[in-house]
Amino acid sequence: MIDLHVHTNNSDGTHTTEEVLDMAVSAGLGAVAITDHDTVRGIREALELGEKKGIRVIPGIEINAKYEERNTHIVGLFIDPDSKPLAEFSNDLVGRRLRRNIAMIERLQELGYNVDFDDFPDFVRGQVMTKGNFGKVLVEKGYFATTGEAIEALMEKGRPAYIPKVSCTPMEAVDVIHQAGGLAFVAHFHQICRKGIDLAEEICRRILEYGADGLETRYSEFDDTLRARAEAMAAEYGKLRSGGSDYHGSTVKPGLRIGTGYGDLYVPDEYLTAMDEYLAGRGK
Ligand SMILES: [Zn+2]
Ligand SMILES: [Zn+2]
Repeated sequence: MIDLHVHTNNSDGTHTTEEVLDMAVSAGLGAVAITDHDTVRGIREALELGEKKGIRVIPGIEINAKYEERNTHIVGLFIDPDSKPLAEFSNDLVGRRLRRNIAMIERLQELGYNVDFDDFPDFVRGQVMTKGNFGKVLVEKGYFATTGEAIEALMEKGRPAYIPKVSCTPMEAVDVIHQAGGLAFVAHFHQICRKGIDLAEEICRRILEYGADGLETRYSEFDDTLRARAEAMAAEYGKLRSGGSDYHGSTVKPGLRIGTGYGDLYVPDEYLTAMDEYLAGRGK
């Protein structure tokens, strides 16, 4: 059993790389991929620790992209953590997010709200600050009764403090993962559009047709239907299959465990074998 989608505190997970690897060892996993959001910061350490602890670590990343306003996550596996194009891409994304956060705070200040950088602890980490984060601070400061009211009044499209999100396209994410020598997978395709699974599948198909190497066919939240839809896409396009728990730590997703997800997740070793063979065939 393996787990090819796991987060650490190098992005929004709550555990250190070492803790995550210890959990993976305890869970009896044969391999684990570290796939933090938009960063490869922890990969070198993970590879070294993996060797010491006797577990295979696959160097990865999860790039948060947008396709026609919809969140589309691309997981890169077997990436070179020292890849220059990938480092530039990641720094640029973080930089663009920081600039958006700054613009948002300045806009609120111009509008007369007494908010400052210190009010946002995640700000320094270059995280995407959501409307919810801003709304919460405005509520804490007594400007609004609820976060929803703050968002409605100020931050929805057309409102005075609205500033569009910055992101990349899933196609750009696929390209940069390839430049870094990795394989690109569409992650949890159902989340692309929670309300309309057909649209989610349609967008997933476009990314596969563009050149992604595969998609996640096993995922913590997948039921039989979603698994079957994902399997069918992989088979139709002759693409690789991947899968994982998307573990973030028990406080972020309660009840979810590394390896087994909510209890019935099982990502077979064959997925990794197929990737190894594919990479070997490519001459890597
Ligand atoms: Zn994701
Ligand atoms: Zn994830």
